[in-house]
Amino acid sequence: MSDLIVMKFGGTSMGTAGRIRIAAEITAAERAKRPVAVVVSAMSKVTDMLLDTLRHAEGGDRATMERNIAALRERHETVANELLRSPEEVLTGIAGLIAEFERISQGMLLLGDRPPRSVDEAMAIGERLTALILAAYLTETGTPAEAVNAASVLVTDSVFGNATPIMNLTRAKGVAVVAPLLAAGSVVVMTGFNGATADGKPTTLGRGGSDFSASILASAMDASELWIWTDVDGIMTADPRLVKDARVLDEVTYAEAAELAYNGAKVLHPRTLAPLVEKKIPVWSKNSFNLAAPGTHIVAALRADEPRGARAVTSMANVALVSVEPASASISGTRVMARALDALDIVNAEVLTLSSSSYRQSFCFLVRKDELPAVLKGLEEALALELEHGYVKPFEIDENVGLLAVVGEGMRGVAGLAGRVFTAVSREGISIIAIAQGSNELTINLVVSRDGLERAVKAIHAECGLGRRA
Ligand code: ASP
Ligand code: MG
Repeated sequence: MSDLIVMKFGGTSMGTAGRIRIAAEITAAERAKRPVAVVVSAMSKVTDMLLDTLRHAEGGDRATMERNIAALRERHETVANELLRSPEEVLTGIAGLIAEFERISQGMLLLGDRPPRSVDEAMAIGERLTALILAAYLTETGTPAEAVNAASVLVTDSVFGNATPIMNLTRAKGVAVVAPLLAAGSVVVMTGFNGATADGKPTTLGRGGSDFSASILASAMDASELWIWTDVDGIMTADPRLVKDARVLDEVTYAEAAELAYNGAKVLHPRTLAPLVEKKIPVWSKNSFNLAAPGTHIVAALRADEPRGARAVTSMANVALVSVEPASASISGTRVMARALDALDIVNAEVLTLSSSSYRQSFCFLVRKDELPAVLKGLEEALALELEHGYVKPFEIDENVGLLAVVGEGMRGVAGLAGRVFTAVSREGISIIAIAQGSNELTINLVVSRDGLERAVKAIHAECGLGRRA
């Protein structure tokens, strides 16, 4: 649909009755101009709470489970009562969804187990609650809307907890389920975060996945634009909590936005941009708490007049560096690397950066700290024989590190930039532990000691002149 706009509201933008009212106003204003599909997150903190409840259920803690469920029910009922003149139907809907969550939790309590597929079914309840409430409020205030469970639209593979969409099947569902509602003049309010396999098993797209849901829907429906509403003014040159003069970027490319997201910028889920690239659907990252701010425009290519060089610096703490070193020249370093990477894939861990040097083909890679136990187990299994026979040295783990990324399409072919980045960091007396720059010259990754991370970000931000211009 050529003039369709997809808008996504995040957890804080859905967090209270007041915030939902603003989301509805934004939606109604757009609906006056063109067809609108909305994708919603659960209310802020609700997904964490759902997960916490399931963990307690699995652990046999009935009291906490019941207390959490009561709190969830109460929070949503309060919001519905605050927003709606006639809340009865929505209250019945809320009761039904909470009962569904309770049934799954009870099952886990009895089993003492948390089957991934049931977790995904239960975790989507937060989004189903907000979709129900927002759609009812829109309808009551004169903008007819329908809540849609993305399990009936987004078809995914069966990697529970981190599923990937199957686009052609999703497109067909979009035509069958979403298009008729839009054609009838309704705003579609779809749940973010969840989907289902082709044979109907509930899945989720990973934490923070509602952005991804929105871009999948935008792509499947051939939308003209995607607006992602959050609680910050847009994509920034650095984390404003670290760097005082960080500023919002007017425009970034898909590639830059994806690099920033992968390297720790919280504003977008890293997988969001991929479904949009082919159709060049532009994205706006906007702040529902500051409607006057224009936001950041995310587009296929930079304007010719954009200044060259670095555009933003991001950082990530809570990472661990794993080093693997063959112990003898009689073993192929390439094979060790292949086995190790294969193991990382099997445990579904993400390699944040990887670097290799030396004739022995030792190499190191960075992973999230919470994935480290699974990574080590996977590596030990994959290289068990080599370790046992001493062909590979025991892995070295450094948890006292941080990742820093300097990102910018305009860095391509700018001589001396890497030198300035390194000089800025070394001037601060911070030692660089590992370096990686891909041949696309889009990102320079540095691994530095954890206690130098924030200072390194500030130093690079200043050195590259990224801050607000005086
Ligand atoms: N509610 C989900 C989460 O907190 C998805 C999202 O908000 O994007 O992870
Ligand atoms: Mg989010």
